[in-house]
Amino acid sequence: MNHCDIDTRLWSKKAQTLSPYVPGEQPKHDNLCKLNTNENPFPPSPKVGEAIGAVLNHQAEALKLYPAPESDDLRQALADFYGLTSNQVFVGNGSDEVLALVFASFFLKDLPLLAPDISYSFYPVYAQTFGVELQPIALSDDFSVNPDDYQQPCAGIIIANPNAPTGMLMPLSAIKALANQHPNSVVVIDEAYIDFAQAGDNAVSAVSLINDFDNILITQTFSKSRSLAGLRVGMAFGNPSLIEALTRMKNSFNSYPLDKLAQAGATASVLDRDYFKDTCQKVIELREALTSKLAQLGFEVLPSQANFVFAKPEMPAVEVASRLREQGIIVRHFNQPRIDEYLRITVGTAEQNQRLIDALKALA
Ligand SMILES: *Cc1c(COP(=O)(O)O)cnc(C)c1O
Repeated sequence: MNHCDIDTRLWSKKAQTLSPYVPGEQPKHDNLCKLNTNENPFPPSPKVGEAIGAVLNHQAEALKLYPAPESDDLRQALADFYGLTSNQVFVGNGSDEVLALVFASFFLKDLPLLAPDISYSFYPVYAQTFGVELQPIALSDDFSVNPDDYQQPCAGIIIANPNAPTGMLMPLSAIKALANQHPNSVVVIDEAYIDFAQAGDNAVSAVSLINDFDNILITQTFSKSRSLAGLRVGMAFGNPSLIEALTRMKNSFNSYPLDKLAQAGATASVLDRDYFKDTCQKVIELREALTSKLAQLGFEVLPSQANFVFAKPEMPAVEVASRLREQGIIVRHFNQPRIDEYLRITVGTAEQNQRLIDALKALA
């Protein structure tokens, strides 16, 4: 049905006012160089396919039964991986679903939610869906987060770290400062890209902070660093009281968000530590190589700690994006104040990155 044929007469007022998130496109053509949605260029651990295959081959009949509602094995595997207890771990159908439950559990208060003005574009969508007032806080001129800008009373704070789409990492000291400023609000750190971050010998993930701060909640995903965007698994780490709120909210909405195949595949991924470490390391090296090649071509590249780079070409960004597209290379442009001169480019395989660089050279 064509959009203008839609009759909204029977819709709730809520449904009539929604403005949904628009995901990066997933075109069907072959031979496209798809650098627009931050998927991992490497396949998932082979153990994932084996585990899912084992369920299908030997226990297909078990699919007639509901899956474990609280995904116990997966939560235990994640707890072991991070040195936590399983009551500090929550899992959901992608971190987008976890984030929706976070909004419903912690941010429905009569105060604004604070988030950077440049951040994951799903946050404003959830704010609207749940009727939360979102107060954007401007990033500094260099796109960094300054905790001093977040001192007003608030329902909570949500920040992606590394931030999207800038790729920039905020130090743990800033996260502690935010949590100390707001002992009665939840500070949510969306670590979708944290596994690609490094800061010498210093810890970069805030997961270690949840034992000391009962108001810090971390979300992560299997979609980026674990190459499982198609399996839909995300998680949250926090004090058991925060996890209990999420669990109650989940069980008031959908008790079985993770099917048996997703639980088996995700658990196998967590257990294959070497594969995970190796692929993250490869992506980091490819990112550094891509960054220096883009810089040589005159791009201004922000210091990325993610599996994408945010870079400003010498030519207008919109034009570069559309000329790359003519050659089958898709990158993401955000038509938004402050960042409309930048392109967000996912780190691809060495071959994909070379194809991008060759195409860019041909434009100049
Ligand atoms: C990709 C991404 C997510 C969503 O991850 P899913 O688990 O695939 O839903 C959440 N937050 C940020 C910042 C992301 O970039």
